[in-house]
Amino acid sequence: MIFLKTEDEIELMRAANQLVAQTLAEVGKAIRPGVTTAQLDQIADEFIRDHGALPTFKGFPNPYGGPFPGSICTSVNEVVVHGVPSAETVLKDGDIISVDCGTLLNGYNGDSCYTFQVGEVSDEVKLLLKTTKEALYKGIETAIAGHRIGDIGYAVQSHCEAQGYGVVREFVGHGIGKDMHEDPQVPNYGRRGQGKQLKNGLCIAIEPMIAMGTHEVYMMPDRWTIKTRDGKVAAHFEHTIAIHHGKPDILSSFEEIERIEASKY
Ligand code: MG
Ligand code: MG
Repeated sequence: MIFLKTEDEIELMRAANQLVAQTLAEVGKAIRPGVTTAQLDQIADEFIRDHGALPTFKGFPNPYGGPFPGSICTSVNEVVVHGVPSAETVLKDGDIISVDCGTLLNGYNGDSCYTFQVGEVSDEVKLLLKTTKEALYKGIETAIAGHRIGDIGYAVQSHCEAQGYGVVREFVGHGIGKDMHEDPQVPNYGRRGQGKQLKNGLCIAIEPMIAMGTHEVYMMPDRWTIKTRDGKVAAHFEHTIAIHHGKPDILSSFEEIERIEASKY
């Protein structure tokens, strides 16, 4: 079921998503060669709780196995999504890490993801990050009242496939509000003019998951970690937006994250 949000609810959603943005920036400050993904998880968990919210991912139920053990997903290199934070996963120079974060604040959810570089990465990888982020914003630009879900997917898919990248099919964006995952689904592929119509008050997470090679993925025995079939790296950028006064209103933010990235590299 689709729940359209009131003006007040959109502002509550903005608050939850701004906390996600701040959390990702805090994590970003700590990302460097030698740090473990368990340390990053600890930083995020404390920051979220210190700000009166809950990390939505912690204990998130899994249809295939046990609940998610971390407060963020930390997906390194060929891990596309749902990487589990671990004291054994040590970041090294040239890695990329997608940090996906969700918060529940005053009854509403925030959800955003950013793929960080660790130290110096190759030009090939930089182009993947740049293209995936561009695809996210191209998807957002099309999210205006009267357009359809397929318009978003088409914008993301065509931008990434033009570079020869694989658009992951198994995981998609989603409606978001009091629940982390509400209707409708928001695929990163699609046809223009197809699918549900976008209306004022609709809040959705748009989240391209884009692989350097094949779009095919598989699940690791931990029943969470999703990797690319060919072992090539993948990027993941996500914003939560509202359709507000007919136009896309980005409720999360990369501003602080990018300021920190710029100061490091
Ligand atoms: Mg997310
Ligand atoms: Mg999401």
